[in-house]
Amino acid sequence: MRLNTVRKRHFAPDPTAPAACCDMPGCAEAAAYRAPKSREALTEYWWFCLEHVRQYNAKWDFYKGMSSGQIEQELRRDAGWQRPTWPLGRLGGGPGVIDELEAAIDQFTRAPAQPAPKPGAPAELRQPLTILGLAWPTDIDTLKARYKTLAKQHHPDANGGDRAAEERLKQINLAYATLRAWLRPHATVA
Ligand SMILES: [Zn+2]
Repeated sequence: MRLNTVRKRHFAPDPTAPAACCDMPGCAEAAAYRAPKSREALTEYWWFCLEHVRQYNAKWDFYKGMSSGQIEQELRRDAGWQRPTWPLGRLGGGPGVIDELEAAIDQFTRAPAQPAPKPGAPAELRQPLTILGLAWPTDIDTLKARYKTLAKQHHPDANGGDRAAEERLKQINLAYATLRAWLRPHATVA
């Protein structure tokens, strides 16, 4: 697999990866993937595991205008919120794991660069979907459940009144409102 040098956001396992663990705070996975530190520092890299390089990739739009330092702050604050986002749990063991992992890597490295891959999602919903870590299509019940989890996680009371958590919660609220408004008229009435 060759690293595409033109489209910098397509990542492949990097043979020059340092023997270190993922830059995502709290993650002890081996770091085999690199990602530019910010739009201003495209030749400086974070080193991530597959799960976290995917997460970082998906949030690239969210990091727009942030410096490497601000992104790092985001990553630190984010360290606990991304787990349910990527359905990689099935890669956890058993036969065929390597094949599955390779398929996942393959799929990822071919995914469109931006915005985050949400095939078929209306353009105005892509960012809200990324913020909430939801796949498309989704429904109002999935949305509500996801919102409940995130709102709890990012509530300032659960974060010592942290202003950044407050800011994140605002984004979550806004994303939720946008998706709910869109899904409501489309909901099937039982
Ligand atoms: Zn990681």
